[in-house]
Amino acid sequence: MTQGDKARLFTRMVAGKLFPFIWEKGYEVTFGEAWRPQEVADLYAKYHKGIANSLHSARLALDVALYKNGIYLMKDDDYKEVGEYWESLSTEEFKCCWGGRFGDGNHFSISHLNLK
Ligand SMILES: [Zn+2]
Repeated sequence: MTQGDKARLFTRMVAGKLFPFIWEKGYEVTFGEAWRPQEVADLYAKYHKGIANSLHSARLALDVALYKNGIYLMKDDDYKEVGEYWESLSTEEFKCCWGGRFGDGNHFSISHLNLK
């Protein structure tokens, strides 16, 4: 699977699985950061706001903002139901990762176990 294949699969999963689940559960969602140029990832790492080899730079991660009843949800725990659902989509081929496991609750990504 190429990098492009992975990025397209991730986008398809966000649009076809993650967002429908979010709406089904009564949340609203807006886009946060998706693609992150490497220069920005390097700057984030320099100022300890991220890591240099971010999955965002590979187009394999998305940050979202969830809302319930018009209220912006900010705590990692607010994203737990959605994060656990996302994790449940993992297969033998790729792992769906929720950032709430490392203090970044609005972050959703996939990583492949068969990286090339
Ligand atoms: Zn992120």
